Amino acid sequence: MSPAPDPTTLAAFEAAKGFMPRHEGLALYEAAAAAGRLGLPLLEVGTYCGRSTLLLADAARSAGVSALTVDHHRGSEEQQPGWDYHDPETVDPEIGLMDTLPTFRRTLHRAGLEEHVIALVGRSPQIAALWNSPLALVFIDGGHTDEHAGADYEGWAPHVAPEGLLVIHDVFPEPEDEFTGQAPYRVYLRALESGEFTEVSATGSLRVLRRTAPAER
Ligand code: SAH
Ligand code: MG
Repeated sequence: MSPAPDPTTLAAFEAAKGFMPRHEGLALYEAAAAAGRLGLPLLEVGTYCGRSTLLLADAARSAGVSALTVDHHRGSEEQQPGWDYHDPETVDPEIGLMDTLPTFRRTLHRAGLEEHVIALVGRSPQIAALWNSPLALVFIDGGHTDEHAGADYEGWAPHVAPEGLLVIHDVFPEPEDEFTGQAPYRVYLRALESGEFTEVSATGSLRVLRRTAPAER
């Protein structure tokens, strides 16, 4: 039987704001639980309100590692006021900009998972530029432009440890199915074409790849 998150975590996942369906969440959890056996941290790009972070946190707790999650908390292009994926509740009324950090913190607190997560608040490429240690899992679910998704791949994929996992969300091979563009699909193709990663599984738009060759430096 494949490992499953704690029922409390799953309930919090269902209740949290966000865009990940349950079957993809379960596949993410399974990948995180497997990667956690490497004894290295799990890292997510794109925290939003913490829906997917809950699953990484649960897996991190079981494995005795930390989950790290990166976001500037000001939202992606398509989440800004006037766009399809905007949620008015994510706007800080005082400054009139999106701020998903308070909601994220409530999500984790309610699930009792705060202590297993380190939130990195800032732009993904800026944080990646300072990063220099191996990761068991990198989950790319940040900005959906080629600029952002490409930078997430270039900045974080090199840190996936041997046998570690690279997980990519919102991979839509067919243009008619796409949700906010095909940049994540192009990142997925790049990872395979690099010869460094081998596909492990596909669940909905979630792809799990394993590092089977060393990073080119
Ligand atoms: N993983 C979340 C959804 C993430 S939505 C879930 O499953 O619920 C994408 C998030 O990426 C947004 O919160 C946005 O603020 C963040 N983001 C987009 N581009 C970014 C960048 N360059 N650096 C940091 N965060 C970014
Ligand atoms: Mg996503």
